[in-house]
Amino acid sequence: MHLREPGYEHKETVLSGSRAAAAGGFTGVACMPNTSPAIDNAATVGLILDKASEAKFNVWPIAAISHGREGKALVEMAELVDCGAIGFSDDGDPVKDSHLMRTALEYSRMLGVPIIEHAEDPALTVLGSMHEGQMSALLGVRGMPGIAEDVMVARDILIAEYTGGHLHIAHLSTARSLQLIRDARKRGVHVTCEVTPHHLTMSDEDVRASGLDPNWKMSPPLRTQADVKALRRGITDGTIDFIATDHAPHHLDDKDTTFEDAAFGITSLETALAVVITELVKPGVIDLPQAVALMSTNAAGVFNLPAGTLKKGSEANVTIFDPDQEWTVDADGFESKSVNSPWVGQTLTGRATDVIVQGRRFRV
Ligand SMILES: [Zn+2]
Repeated sequence: MHLREPGYEHKETVLSGSRAAAAGGFTGVACMPNTSPAIDNAATVGLILDKASEAKFNVWPIAAISHGREGKALVEMAELVDCGAIGFSDDGDPVKDSHLMRTALEYSRMLGVPIIEHAEDPALTVLGSMHEGQMSALLGVRGMPGIAEDVMVARDILIAEYTGGHLHIAHLSTARSLQLIRDARKRGVHVTCEVTPHHLTMSDEDVRASGLDPNWKMSPPLRTQADVKALRRGITDGTIDFIATDHAPHHLDDKDTTFEDAAFGITSLETALAVVITELVKPGVIDLPQAVALMSTNAAGVFNLPAGTLKKGSEANVTIFDPDQEWTVDADGFESKSVNSPWVGQTLTGRATDVIVQGRRFRV
């Protein structure tokens, strides 16, 4: 998820993002480093942790892989892990340079932290705004083909296999990439992955139905119904480790324009739990214990965090939620500074009623 601080405080801050997370039933978040400046040094990691402690919320920073996320020079990974970085990613952009990815994965093996990839070959997505397929052709919108993700996932798996590092694919979206990961795991490659609530519940047909509303524009784009079906199989058979929001707040200025010109990304912290309950638990795709594992325990496991557990002696981070409470998503009620959500106006089922963070009731 993206907290946007430092640099884009008009979209979100550590404080507003923490409140949005708690409103959605999360007791902690891991934030991506595509801020300005990027989270690529000890001081910026420290700034995030200071702001998190002021907010009295659990924020785990993910640091950039390369300085300034420029894809060139590797950051001081060991130092940043010592300062509190839980993983590394140039998210927003992929790691184009295979040698940089190799070096990062070699350090990942030594340090025991994941390298998190935004899997996209940018040469295949130039000027694209939605998934490339029948819908983009019908709508006359330049597409981003699924293979842009698949070729990057395939490359990264091969490098992870060669180096023995821990590769984590962020916001996985295609059936083909999922199959590549399934096969790699059978060979013993250390690869994990996550999927967003929107890629599990919406397709490019919803982009068409929205009338090209910019709140249906994100990267990776909403794929086909066949991909959605495959991803749902991936969460039930355990190939997909967890559900992550990819909360990507944007100011109205970045979204109040044409579909092609709008920024990529949607806010999702405040609706994620309800979308999972409404679209996946109620129809019987997964059961409630599976949903809880996919949204807490499993993520903590992938990142080796002392979280997502009620074990005796562990810090009290607890969400109490009512799985049957119906509510209508109202942008005015958002704690996030941004309202770029495709669920606004929809009635969803399931809502957090109490969130306890670090042993204290978190007041939103
Ligand atoms: Zn990304």
